[in-house]
Amino acid sequence: MPAMEEKRITVAYGDGIGPEIMSATLEILDAAGAQIATDVIEIGEQVYRSGNSAGIAEESWQTLLQNGVFLKAPITTPQGGGYKSLNVTIRKTLGLYANIRPCRSYAPFVRTKHPEMDLVVIRENEEDLYGGIEHRQTDEVYQCLKLISRPGCERIARYCFEFARQAGRKKVTCFTKDNIMKMTDGLFRQVFSEVGRDYPDIEQEHWIIDIGAAKLADTPEAFDVILVPNLYGDIVSDIAAQIGGSVGLAGSANIGESFAMFEAIHGSAPDIAGKGIANPSGLLLGAIQMLVHIGQGKVAEKIHNGWLKTIEDGIHTGELYQEGLSKKRVGTKEFANAVKERLGESPSHFAPVQYGDSTTLDLRYERSSSYTPPQQRLVGVDVFLAEDNRDAESLAERLNNASNSLPLSLEMITNRGTKVWPHGRPETFCTDHWRCRFSASKDELEPSVIWKLLELLHQHDLRTIKTENLYYFGDERGFSLGQGQK
Ligand code: NAD
Repeated sequence: MPAMEEKRITVAYGDGIGPEIMSATLEILDAAGAQIATDVIEIGEQVYRSGNSAGIAEESWQTLLQNGVFLKAPITTPQGGGYKSLNVTIRKTLGLYANIRPCRSYAPFVRTKHPEMDLVVIRENEEDLYGGIEHRQTDEVYQCLKLISRPGCERIARYCFEFARQAGRKKVTCFTKDNIMKMTDGLFRQVFSEVGRDYPDIEQEHWIIDIGAAKLADTPEAFDVILVPNLYGDIVSDIAAQIGGSVGLAGSANIGESFAMFEAIHGSAPDIAGKGIANPSGLLLGAIQMLVHIGQGKVAEKIHNGWLKTIEDGIHTGELYQEGLSKKRVGTKEFANAVKERLGESPSHFAPVQYGDSTTLDLRYERSSSYTPPQQRLVGVDVFLAEDNRDAESLAERLNNASNSLPLSLEMITNRGTKVWPHGRPETFCTDHWRCRFSASKDELEPSVIWKLLELLHQHDLRTIKTENLYYFGDERGFSLGQGQK
């Protein structure tokens, strides 16, 4: 093997079973000849409990930024309010936009109903409902903002297709709910199709997420690479890992332009912490993705094949152990020793893994220089109101009285998205949260009219809670119609 350059990485031993599985993983990496030096940082429960609500100290950020590559054991997020998810913070702060979760079955050595399954979930990692932008707007109604951006979609779609091509995968399936969320999920799907045109060698399809997830749970062998927005990806990848045999067997890579983080997909398993029985495989498979990322594909290959051989030889930790399928029940350390003993061996049942010299993709996002944004035209405003009286007719009358001096008109009122004025139905259940759509009387609205409108509504004792401007982008309407609106 040609001499490899040593790479300095950041390591966190985490909580619960974290220290046990991290020690086992690093021992295997060392025995396989991985050229890494480690800087250890402390994250998780102890840091949270010391009063740091982010779960990570400032100096640890410096280490993370300096090294660029992070191997992380699971952590425990203390119950109760005020603690931020460290995973989400790290992903978003370091711009780790792509989450790659290979999920496959290891039949007949690990029990599964889906012996042919071998797929990769590629999850957008920064956007969607995970922005954590939530508000209580009225006594009765709470809101969570779903943000999807074109650059976010372009980056993840491009990553996904490049990944598929590099990994020799044949098909990419996109899951969205664009029949309902036509603008946000619609954009994700549209960009998937646009970017997909550059990859005619790869089969492409789209499924609505609900039936797609059902199909995945039933026939996972029909999928190859799955591209999904953040929230669906979180759910779908756990389903895929579980039906493959165990969430304990899945590793995950979080990749950005300058940084990357590798981990197991399972949590800190406090119920078995300290007992020496945890399966280190999820973290080890994450570490294998890391070795590929840092250009040590040959070492990754050696470990992966030794690990497959260990699984084939029926050497299993307790949660996988099955009478008749397994040969020997082992603890964390014994399992690690079994993998070390098999370094350099190839599996005989499973196809040996080959990474060669390939590295994880390094894609830089650049908006095309020929792009000119469309002209943005303000044509109205949605004003959201808190109002206890559930009578839409009288609310419309008050709104019309308040706004009749302005160059706009009340077009509709909806309650939780359903049109209740004009021509509402008495059967529609109403809360104290109303969306009132005002449209410009002319082609375009002066922004100052909106400020004036808000002032007038206030003077008429109408409690505004927020506004959303209504724009056209060129000829394209930049807002959805109300349910029931023509
Ligand atoms: P969990 O994944 O920790 O455990 C679920 C079940 O799977 C438990 O019965 C556990 O014993 C078992 N299990 C998990 N990993 C195993 C392994 N490697 N070997 C053998 N058995 C294993 O999920 P949970 O109990 O819901 O969460 C526990 C804690 O982990 C929570 O504080 C949660 O917030 C945290 N968590 C952290 C991460 C992370 O850091 N990436 C991810 C998920 C959950």
